Order: sequence, then structure tokens, then C-alpha cells
Amino acid sequence: MPAISFEFFPPKTDEQRTQLDKTAKELKALKPEYVSVTFGAGGSTLSYTSETVARLHQQHGLDVAPHLSCMGGTRKEIAELLDTYRAAGYKRIVALRGDLPSGMATPGDFRYAAELVRFIRQHSGDHFHVEVAAYPEMHPQAEDVQADLRHFKAKIDAGANGAITQYFFNADAYFCFVDDVRRMGVTVPIVPGIMPISNYAQLKRFSDACGAEIPRWIAKRMQAYYDDADSIRAMGAEVVAQLCRRLLEGGAPALHFYTLNRAKATRAVLEQLH
Ligand code: FAD
Repeated sequence: MPAISFEFFPPKTDEQRTQLDKTAKELKALKPEYVSVTFGAGGSTLSYTSETVARLHQQHGLDVAPHLSCMGGTRKEIAELLDTYRAAGYKRIVALRGDLPSGMATPGDFRYAAELVRFIRQHSGDHFHVEVAAYPEMHPQAEDVQADLRHFKAKIDAGANGAITQYFFNADAYFCFVDDVRRMGVTVPIVPGIMPISNYAQLKRFSDACGAEIPRWIAKRMQAYYDDADSIRAMGAEVVAQLCRRLLEGGAPALHFYTLNRAKATRAVLEQLH
């Protein structure tokens, strides 16, 4: 089995906490290298992220990687958070710019993720293994692909140890991205982010927001299932497992799953991979 990691978001209600506990227990059995917890830009889920990584680390015995987004944050706030995470014994951080929530006026002390990575290195030295985000289908706000690749390289040059990609369904986008950045001298591991499919309407919404393309042949088949959730899940598991197989055969170093705090769809993909 390849090295795998799972991404969760911070639950906000007791019901969601119970759901995450159940999911964490089930997915722990699949022996992830670590689990990561997302961060809301502008500090909106700041306390929930810390609370959630603590819960996954202490109650579930998992290695954790809090996401840290700099948008809206000050140097002082981020330094304090880094110190807290270090004191708690965490060794990994996923460093991001994040997006400014609508209505929030100040972007904070950092403009781009590369500046955050540089700050983490200045403040915490080599303590943290730092992952950054990569976009095989280009970040939606980039001027063009070449500029986006240069900005990605700047994050690695600032001291990141590796990258996790935005999800995609076209393996060639990943291979092309890896080839491009290798030619630019980037040598760190680039781990594909994998989105298991369980709910087509939700997937479409996320993909529209983050600029990930759903290939027409997948969209058409999913639409034809309407609300037949079992058929959507079955086809989703097959399509995503096939994608993972191609990625691993083509040299992907590991797989990072966007679980959305549910175990079923991720497990279905991993069972097919076995
Ligand atoms: P950056 O790398 O800073 O890039 C952002 C944009 O700016 C890109 O278009 C880039 O080309 C451009 N750019 C960079 N540097 C420059 C420069 N010097 N001059 C001009 N343009 C530049 N969001 C959250 O809020 N919380 C999370 O927990 C979270 N987790 C994520 C995990 C992964 C694996 C991924 C792939 C994304 C995640 N996101 C998360 C989403 C992410 O925050 C957004 O995609 C955000 O818009 C960009 O963040 P970034 O770190 O990639 O930014």
C-alpha cells in the first residue's frame, strides 16, 4: 500500500464531533502516515483547528498536521500558533495563503503563502515539516500557468519540504505539473490530493469554487444517476481508484485524501486499490 494521509475539517457542533471521532477511528485502521486539519481564513476557525488537531492527536493517537493559512493573520498571531503547535509536539504544518472571507477588509501581514513559509523557517527553524499547496490545473487567480509555476517554486525555495495538490480527475494534469516543476529544479515530493466521490451536487459545487475540472464523461454519468446514491458511490470509487492506480504507477509518492470527515467513500477507494 502507498503512504496515505487524510484531511479533515474542524467540527463545530457536538454532532459533527461525534461524526469525526467515528471517522477517525475507522480511518486510523488504514494506518495513515498523518492526518491534517483545515484552517479557516481570517482566523474564523482558528480555535476549532487547534482543538481538532489536539483531539485527533491525544484521543486518537494520530500524527497531525494543522493547516495554517496566513490571510488575515498577523506575524504575532502566527508566531504564537507555531509556538503552541511546537509545544504540543506536532512536527508538520500545511502552510497556505487561504482566501479572504467576504466582508473582511485587511489581508493581514502576509500576502502570499511563500511569505508564510519563509516566516515559519525564520521563527521555528527546521522544526516543522512544511507542506504547501500545488495546482495541477492552475490556481484560479493566477495570471497564467507559467506565473503560477513560478509562484509555486517560490514556496519551495522559501523552505517547504513538499506539496499536496488540489484535487483533479485527470492524471495527465498531475504528470504535466510534476514534469514542469522538475524542469524548474523542484525536487520535493508532490503528493496528489484525492477527492473521493460520494455526492455529485456537492462535488460540482466544490469544483466550481476551486477551479477543478470534472471531465465531461464523469459528469454525464453522474448526472444520469440523479439521486441514486449507491450507483454514484460505486462509480465514484471505481473512477477514483483507477485514477490513484495511474498516479502511483506514474510515480506519485503518496496519496492525500480529502475525506470531508466521512470514512465510507475514502475506504471504498482504498479497498479497490488493494
Ligand atoms: P499562494 O501560493 O500564495 O498562491 C495564491 C495565488 O497567488 C496563486 O494564483 C499564485 O499564482 C498567486 N501568487 C503567489 N505569489 C505571487 C506573487 N508574488 N505575485 C503575484 N501572484 C502571486 N484554504 C483554507 O482557507 N484553509 C485550508 O485549510 C486550506 N487547505 C488547503 C489544502 C490544500 C492541499 C490545497 C491545495 C488548498 C487548500 N486551501 C485551504 C485553499 C487555498 O487556501 C486557496 O487555494 C488559496 O486561494 C491559495 O492558497 P495558496 O497557499 O495556494 O496561495
